[in-house]
Amino acid sequence: MSAIKDLTAFQRQTEALAQVMGRLGWDQETMMPAGAAEQRGEEMAALETVLHARRTDPRLSEWLATAEPGDEAQAAALRLIRRSYERNSKVPADLAAQIVRTTSRAHHIWVEARAKDDVAAFLPILQEVLTLRQREAEALAKGGDLYDALLDDYEPGMTGVALQAMFAELRPRLVALRERVAESDVAPQPPTGTSSKPEQLALSEEIAAVFGYDRTRGRIDEAVHPFSSGSGADVRITTRVDEGDPLGCLYSTIHEVGHATYEQNIAPGFALTPLGQGVSMGVHESQSRIYENQLGRSRAFTSWLYGRMVDRFGPLNVDDEDAFHATINQVHPGFIRTEADEVHYNLHILMRFDLERALLTGDLAVGDLEAAWNDRFAADFGVAVDRPSNGVLQDVHWSAGLIGYFPTYTLGNVYAGCLHAALRRDLPGLDDQMSRGDLAPALAWLKEHLQRHGGLREPRATIEHATGGEVSAAPLLDYLDGKFGAIYKV
Ligand code: ZN
Repeated sequence: MSAIKDLTAFQRQTEALAQVMGRLGWDQETMMPAGAAEQRGEEMAALETVLHARRTDPRLSEWLATAEPGDEAQAAALRLIRRSYERNSKVPADLAAQIVRTTSRAHHIWVEARAKDDVAAFLPILQEVLTLRQREAEALAKGGDLYDALLDDYEPGMTGVALQAMFAELRPRLVALRERVAESDVAPQPPTGTSSKPEQLALSEEIAAVFGYDRTRGRIDEAVHPFSSGSGADVRITTRVDEGDPLGCLYSTIHEVGHATYEQNIAPGFALTPLGQGVSMGVHESQSRIYENQLGRSRAFTSWLYGRMVDRFGPLNVDDEDAFHATINQVHPGFIRTEADEVHYNLHILMRFDLERALLTGDLAVGDLEAAWNDRFAADFGVAVDRPSNGVLQDVHWSAGLIGYFPTYTLGNVYAGCLHAALRRDLPGLDDQMSRGDLAPALAWLKEHLQRHGGLREPRATIEHATGGEVSAAPLLDYLDGKFGAIYKV
C-alpha cells in the first residue's frame, strides 16, 4: 500500500516541477528581457538536471515493482510512469546530453543556412544530429524498428507501418482534389482590409471565450510563433497580430484555444499526475484542428463570424457570407507548410514522413535529401521548388532532432475528421447552433467524450472511445472532398 502512496507523492512533485519548466519556456517566448537569455539557459538546464534525476530515480523501479493500483486511473498512471522510467533509463546520459548540445548548435546553423539558402552549410550538422538520433533509437528499440522507437515519444502505440498504410490512402485522393481545385474557375475574393492591433485582440478574446477558453485559468499574450503552454489550472496561449491580416490573428487564436481548452477540460482530479495532460501530440492536434477547421472554418460558424467582423471592423471587402466562407477557405498553392490550406497541408506532412523515415533507416543519404525533396514536391504539388528556404530548409524540426514528430500533424487531422463525423452524428442541430455563434453543445461533446479523460487511455483508444468507431482516414477525405468540392464547384 505504501509503494503506491510514496510513488504518487514523488510523481506529483515531478509533475509540478515540469509545469514550472514549461512556464519558464513560456516566459522566455513572451516576457523575458533579451539580456536574460544566457542566465535563463542556465536556469532551465539546472531544472532539467533535477527532472532527469527524478525520472530515472532508482526508487521508481522499486515502487513500480510492488505498487498495486487501486483503480483504472492509478493503473493508467503506473503504466505512464513505467514507460517514462524505462525510456529515460535506456538512453545513456552522455548521449542525451550530446543530443541537447548538438541540436542547440544545429539550430543556429539552420537559421543561417535558411537565411542564405545554403543547403551545403546545413548538411554536416544534420548528419551529426541524425547519427545521434539513430544511436538513441537503437538504444530504445533494442533490435526493433528505429522509426517506431522515436515516434513513440510523440504518439505512443503508433507505428511507421500503420502510418504508411494510412498515408497511402490519403495521398492519391489529396493530389486528385488539389488538381481539381487548381483547374476550377472559381476564384475566392482575397482577404483584404486592415484592422488595428487592439481591435484584433479584442475580437480574439471574444472568440476565445466563444470557443470555451477560461481566462480565469489562462491568459493571452503575443508571440512570433503562436503556441499554448501549461496544464491544469494555468494554461496560457499566445497569438500573433498583423494589421493587414486580421484572419491570421483570429485563426491562430482559435487553433491555440483548441490546444488550451483540451488541457483546461481534463478532469481536475488528474492534475499534477501523468494523466493530467493531453495524451499525445496527435490527439492534441486533433483538438486544435477541429476547433480551427471543422468548426471554425465551417459555413455555419463563418456566417456568424462575418457579422461580428463587420460590426467591429466595418464593411469587409467581400460580397456576402458565402464569399466570406470561400475567402476563409481559399486554396492557395505554396511552398510553405505552415501557411498551407486544408487541401495542401497533409501533402506536406506525407512527404516529410517518407523522407525522414528513409533518412533514419539509411535508405536516403543526407547528401541526396534536397534532390529527393524537390522531386517529391514537383510530383505532389505540381510546381518546382524555387529555393531551399522554400524547400528542404523551411522547417525547424530536423535541426532540433525532431524525427517522428511530423506525422502527428496529419494524425491530428485524421483524428479530427473522425471526431467531426461523430459530432455531426450526435448533434443534428450543430449548424443551427454554430450559425448563432453557439459552440457550447459541440464543446460539451468534445469535453465529455474526449478532453476530460486526459491520459487515461492510449491515443488511438482515446479517439475510438470518443467516436465509438475505428480510426480511419476516410472521414477526413470525405469532409475535404465535400467542403472544397462545394466551394470550388468541382
Ligand atoms: Zn497545433
